[in-house]
Amino acid sequence: MNDMTANVGAQERSDSIYFAPLLPWQQMLWSQLTQRVLTQQSLPHALLAAGMQGMGKRAFVWRLVAWLLCREHDTNPLGACGACESCQWLKSGTHPSLQVLPIVSMPINADSDTLQEKPSSAKDKKSAKTTSNSALKIKVDDIRALQPFIYQGGQGMRICVLDHAEQMTVAAANALLKTLEEPQAQVHLFLISDTPAQLLPTIKSRVQQLALQTIEPAVAIDYVTHALGHTINREAVGKMAIEQLIQLANGAPLAAIALAQAPWYGKRSLWLTTWQALRSGKRSSVAASDYWQKQLSIKEFIQLSERMLLDIKRICLGLSELQTDINLSEALASYQPTDSGLETFATSLQQTKVALQQNVQEKFAYDKLMQELACL
Ligand SMILES: [Zn+2]
Repeated sequence: MNDMTANVGAQERSDSIYFAPLLPWQQMLWSQLTQRVLTQQSLPHALLAAGMQGMGKRAFVWRLVAWLLCREHDTNPLGACGACESCQWLKSGTHPSLQVLPIVSMPINADSDTLQEKPSSAKDKKSAKTTSNSALKIKVDDIRALQPFIYQGGQGMRICVLDHAEQMTVAAANALLKTLEEPQAQVHLFLISDTPAQLLPTIKSRVQQLALQTIEPAVAIDYVTHALGHTINREAVGKMAIEQLIQLANGAPLAAIALAQAPWYGKRSLWLTTWQALRSGKRSSVAASDYWQKQLSIKEFIQLSERMLLDIKRICLGLSELQTDINLSEALASYQPTDSGLETFATSLQQTKVALQQNVQEKFAYDKLMQELACL
């Protein structure tokens, strides 16, 4: 085992994730799993936390990992003690019984940051811009490098966490299969995936999936209301507004909170006004571009536009809009864009994202998008 790489992933994580409060919809699963350990029944050798972002699956895994490793967990059934030698090791990112892949553990995008699904440090945020998905690939050598750790024997629990498990290459997945087929005493594997459909079926059939996907609507509403209570203005915290946020986030509470806090979310009406002014010729695309450059970064404007486009499409298809707090139907009553117009604008948004990765200037990208928006 290369000691230099052994705990880089762990060092990249902030310690708070190990000791954060348990999310309310995870309480039952938490007690089921911890009770099994406390009553000397073994946990499944390999567990998979799968599902879309914003459900708190990573929060659950890191919390459970900390608790399993905690020396005092018998007397602290609700979470790692935070004080024992093991907890100290986690805090310093040097736990000898924890291995994490991929080795460079950084947020893929702003989402994984704001969703608090992945622990991160200021350093991560700075470098996140230059990190692409390819940096997350889990290669066969990474899996092979885990073998000595897994097979070393000895006392005490050892844990491997494979985040973004769908990023395993086929060779890596095949190497992992062998490990999954030969469970070692005291060794636990945790796989985490936002897109489990991309995992090999042979892998999925050998891991036990954690029941983290179901959240009672009332529990989600309660949680989001409470979380947003202190952070956004009062009128926006109405029940309707909360329900809308959760719906837009496909039922994922942490994603709903991130959405409410996104700079663009409060500018949806403004987008509509700009679009109408551009279309009617009351405003030039240059003026609109200048104005929006002071409102949002181009990336945020693209997110906003994508959200608006989704609802505009729904209305054009004769469905009701998901966002009921802005007058979208009214705005579309007298004019509806064509299918091809919608496609063209969606394509422009995609192309702009690509152009931005190639360092195209924000102003230039904004100018172009406003011209496109005027033609929608
Ligand atoms: Zn502890």
